[in-house]
Amino acid sequence: MERAHRTGAFNLFIKTFEGKLPFVLNEPMSRHTTFKVGGPAKLFVKCDTAKQAIAALVFANMCNIPVLMLGNGSNILVADSGFDGIVVKLAGNDLTREGEKITCSAAVKLPYLSRQAYKFGLSGLEFAEGIPGSVGGAVYMNAGAFGESIGDVLYSALCYDKSIKIGSDEQDIKNAFSHIENTKLSDLCKVLTNEELHFSYRNSRVKEEGLFVIEASFILKPSNPQNIEQNMKDYSNRRRSTQPVDMPSGGSFFKRPKDNFAGALIENAGLKGYSVGGAKVSEKHAGFIVNTGNATAYDIYNLANEVSDRVYELFAVRLEPEVELVGF
Ligand SMILES: Cc1cc2nc3c(=O)[nH]c(=O)nc-3n(C[C@H](O)[C@H](O)[C@H](O)COP(=O)(O)OP(=O)(O)OC[C@H]3O[C@@H](n4cnc5c(N)ncnc54)[C@H](O)[C@@H]3O)c2cc1C
Repeated sequence: MERAHRTGAFNLFIKTFEGKLPFVLNEPMSRHTTFKVGGPAKLFVKCDTAKQAIAALVFANMCNIPVLMLGNGSNILVADSGFDGIVVKLAGNDLTREGEKITCSAAVKLPYLSRQAYKFGLSGLEFAEGIPGSVGGAVYMNAGAFGESIGDVLYSALCYDKSIKIGSDEQDIKNAFSHIENTKLSDLCKVLTNEELHFSYRNSRVKEEGLFVIEASFILKPSNPQNIEQNMKDYSNRRRSTQPVDMPSGGSFFKRPKDNFAGALIENAGLKGYSVGGAKVSEKHAGFIVNTGNATAYDIYNLANEVSDRVYELFAVRLEPEVELVGF
């Protein structure tokens, strides 16, 4: 019944959006994740505009099928069996500056944003230079490094909230889409301030409530470009000397446990270099699980579970994944 419902919904999507939205069927997620693993997404929509993304999100909501808003795929592990739903990916590099404020699309990559801020002589995003995620993914999980995080510099975010009713369930899907086409983006979404986004360690209201970030604004501090550049270089050197940045991974696999470090616990459990299939606990940083070349998503998943269980047996600390698991 469930499968038949989804097949019907996918067919309706194809019929409704053929030639209108840029989508492909059965797109391998291994092409879109930094782990370089993951089976096919039933429908993969690469959106050039926010309204295209909203159309796909609204469709998924109206037809009650799973949807994944994808950023740069640097914090997700997608199962080998793939994702039986709609993946929505925003594309583009839109970024504007007004004084000390930078506003950009959720699709913008953090390293690009960080470099642009440096070029404008604005400080506050140096820490983000080596984080290979998108702005949307960074707001979702309040990405951070070296004691700083997105929530420290974010001013506001334009979010689509699926609880905002576009048309009604009784209306047919076509009416909903002409409504989207004819309505201003700002009326389809809401602006949430920093305070309203409830940032905490690797968490935000976006994550708690399943909101979709469309755009974000940051307030930064004018500073000497040479100092900004020096900070960026220092961070980059620290990262390169301590993390396996040249290998496919999802960054730190586990959240930092209270009063402890996941990497240290894993190392003390003697698990540095431990592997399952093609997945390995990095020799350089035990908090990272790397794909040595031919890992499956299940190798990574099983290794993470073994590591978590072993650490729990030895130290009674339960490691929770920071990486989002999709399709497991
Ligand atoms: C080598 C390496 C180093 C890393 N270093 C760090 C680090 O120092 N600090 C750190 O915090 N992280 C780090 N990460 C992890 C990762 O880069 C960040 O978590 C990043 O913020 C994830 O963004 P993304 O766009 O890749 O998200 P994705 O992996 O694409 O998605 C992650 C989650 O965010 C959601 N999401 C994505 N876009 C949106 C959107 N527009 N609206 C709503 N939800 C959205 C997705 O649905 C998913 O649930 C590292 C990863 C790697 C591979």
